[in-house]
Amino acid sequence: MLRPASYAIGKWIEPGAESRAIHGPVTGDLIGQAGGAPLDVQRMLDWARSTGGPALRAMGFHDRARLIKALAVYLGERKEELYAINPLTGATRRDGAIDIDGGIGTMMVIASKGRREMPDGQVYVDGAAEGLSRGGTFIGQHIAVPLQGVAVLINAFNFPVWGMLEKLAPAILAGMPVIVKPATQTCYLTEACFRMIIESGILPEGAVQLVIGGTGDMLDRLGAQDVVSFTGSADTALHLRTNPALMRNSVRFHAEQDSLNATILGPDVAAGSPAFQAFIKEAANEITTKAGQKCTAIRRIIVPQSAINEVSEALMARLAGITLGDPAADGVRMGALASAAQKADVLDKLSALAGETVRLTDDPETLDLIGAGPEGAFLAPTLLRCDDPDAARAVHELEAFGPVSTLMPYRDADHAAALANRGGGSLVASLVTDDPQVARQVTLASAAWHGRLYINGASSANEATGHGAPLPHMVHGGPGRAGGGEELGGVRGVLHYMQRTAVQGSPDVIAAITGQWQPGAAEIDAQQHPFQRTFNEIRIGETLHTDAREVTLEDIAHFAEFTGDTFYAHTDEEAAKANPFFPGRVAHGYLLLSFAAGLFVQPDPGPVLANTGLNSLSFQKPVSPGDSIKVRLTCKRKTRRTDSYGEIAWHVTLTNQDGDQVAEYELLTMVSYTR
Ligand code: NDP
Repeated sequence: MLRPASYAIGKWIEPGAESRAIHGPVTGDLIGQAGGAPLDVQRMLDWARSTGGPALRAMGFHDRARLIKALAVYLGERKEELYAINPLTGATRRDGAIDIDGGIGTMMVIASKGRREMPDGQVYVDGAAEGLSRGGTFIGQHIAVPLQGVAVLINAFNFPVWGMLEKLAPAILAGMPVIVKPATQTCYLTEACFRMIIESGILPEGAVQLVIGGTGDMLDRLGAQDVVSFTGSADTALHLRTNPALMRNSVRFHAEQDSLNATILGPDVAAGSPAFQAFIKEAANEITTKAGQKCTAIRRIIVPQSAINEVSEALMARLAGITLGDPAADGVRMGALASAAQKADVLDKLSALAGETVRLTDDPETLDLIGAGPEGAFLAPTLLRCDDPDAARAVHELEAFGPVSTLMPYRDADHAAALANRGGGSLVASLVTDDPQVARQVTLASAAWHGRLYINGASSANEATGHGAPLPHMVHGGPGRAGGGEELGGVRGVLHYMQRTAVQGSPDVIAAITGQWQPGAAEIDAQQHPFQRTFNEIRIGETLHTDAREVTLEDIAHFAEFTGDTFYAHTDEEAAKANPFFPGRVAHGYLLLSFAAGLFVQPDPGPVLANTGLNSLSFQKPVSPGDSIKVRLTCKRKTRRTDSYGEIAWHVTLTNQDGDQVAEYELLTMVSYTR
C-alpha cells in the first residue's frame, strides 16, 4: 500500500486519519492512502521564508544553476525507480518518458540557460542602461531580484514529475523556496521524485517542501512576495485566483488550465504527401499519448472541406493500430486514464458533444485490452466529426480530457484561423503546411490567441519537436481559456519568480548594484597591464588607456590590398566623397579594430587564454587618413565558466584626436584563474 508522505519543516509526515484512498486506474484496486495529516502551514511558510529563501538568495544565479544541474544528474541516475512506479498512474513507458525524462531534461536546459544567459551574481540585468541626463551623470537600469517569499506550486494529475520539476527549476534558479502540491490521484510518483531531491542533499534546507493532500488555509496566508503557480482545471483556477488574500496582496498567480488546442492542415497540403503523413501522425499521437490527458493535446482537427474524408480515413486507420491495456504489458501503446472519475468525466463530455458531432470511431467503451480487465479506467481513442463548426459551440468550449478529438472542415486559411481562435485562447495551435505564406497568414490571424504556434511541413517533419511537447526554451501557457499564464521560455520563466525594478542613479551606483561597469563610472588604474592579471585579480572597472596611433593613407591602401576589401569608400576618393556618410576615403572599420587590438594587447604569455568574441560593435564616426586613434579598455563583467578559467567582458571605446568616440564594442576573453 502506497503511503506518500508530506515533507514539512525538514520532516516527513505520514498520511493522517483523514487520508484519501487512491484507486489504481488499471485494476481499480485500492493502491494507496494519501494526505489527511495535520500540517502547520504557517510554520511551513515561515520556514521557507526564513530558512530556504535566505540560503538561496545568498548564492548567485550560476551557483543555483549548478545545483539544479547536479539535481538533474542525480535524478537521472535514479530515474528507473520512477519508471517502476509510473505504470500505476495508467501511463505507458513512452508516456512516462515525457513526464520523467522530460522533467529531468527540462531541469538541465533551465540550468544551462541560467549559466549562459544570466549573470554570475545576485542581480539580473534587464536590458541596457538608459541615459537619463545630458552629462551622463544620472542613468537608469532595469534589474530583477528574487522575490523574498515562497512559491506555491500546484500541479495537475497528468504530469506528476514534469509538472513539479518544470516549475521548481525556474523558481529555485530565481532564488525562491518552493512548496510543491501535487494532485492527489498521482501524488505518490511526485513524492518518490521529491524524496530523491531530499535524499540528494543538494538543495539548502528550507528550499523545498511537499504537501500531500489539501493545502488547508495556506493560500489565505500568502502575501506580497509570494507566488502561486497552478496547473489544473479552469474551475479550480478560478476558485483559487479569487482568494481574497491573493487579490488583496496582489499575489502573482500563474495559471495553466483547460485548453481546446487545434491543429490545421494547410490548404496547400495534398493527401498522401509527406506533409499530410506528418499531420496524420501528429494528430494520432496527440489523441493517444498519455491517453489524451495532456494539456497540449489536440482537441480540434481543422482540415480543408475537400480533404475531410481522406483525413478521417487516414486517422481512423492509424488509430485502429493502437493497442490498449495494462501500461506495463508488452505491446501496449495506450494505457488507462488516471482514474475512474476521469473516465466518467470524459464520457460526460462525450455526451455533451454528441449534439454537435458524429462519432467516427467505435463505442469507446468497447475494448480489446491486453493484460487488463474492464474494471480499469480505459477508453478507446475516439474521433468525432463536426460538420458545422461555425454554428457549433460545445466543440470549441468543452475539453474532454482523454483520447478524444473532433475533426472539422474549413473553407480557406482565414476561416481555419478563425476556427482555431474559437477555442477562446489555447496553449498551442499547430499548422502543417509547405507554404511559408500560408504560415504567415495563419500566424497574423491567430498568434494572439495561442501561447505557442507549431508549424510543421515536409522539410521539418523529421526534426520537428512535436505539437504537444512544451520545451523549456519556449514559453508554455496561453491567453484566455488557457489561463492567461506563461511558464518556461528560458530565462523568461525564471523572471516570474523575481521582481523587476527600475533603478536610477549615477553610473557608480548602477555599477555597484549590478556588478557591471558602466560608462561614466569610476575607472581603476591597476598599475599593471590587465592582460597580465589573473581572472581573480582583475577588478570590475580596471582600465587601460593606450597611446595614440595615426591612421595613414598607406595603411588604408595596404589593408584594402591585403584583405581584398577594396570597397570604394576606402579606395576611390571621388566616389567616397559622393557618399553622404564619408568626407572622402576613410579607414575600414576592421582596420580600426585591428589597430585597436595592436594598441591594447600585451604580447607575452599570461593569464589571458583566448579572445572568444565581440558584442555590440558600432562604428560611430568615420576615420580619415591623418586621424589618430587611441583605445580605452575597461573590465565590465566577470563570469566564472569552468574550474580553471572565466570570461571577462571588456568595454572598449576608440576615440580620435579630438576626443570624439569613433567605435565602441564589448570584447570577450577567457582568462585563467591562475598565472
Ligand atoms: P484540478 O483543478 O481539480 O486540480 C489541480 C490541482 O489543484 C490539484 O493538485 C488539486 O489537488 C489542486 N486543488 C484543487 N482544489 C484546491 C484547493 N482548494 N486548494 C489548493 N489546491 C487545490 O484538476 P485535476 O488535476 O483534478 O484535473 C481535472 C481537470 O482539469 C481535468 O479533467 C482537465 O479537464 C483539467 N486539466 C487541465 C490541464 C491543463 O493543463 N490544461 C491539466 C490537467 C487537468 P487535489 O488533487 O488534491 O484535489
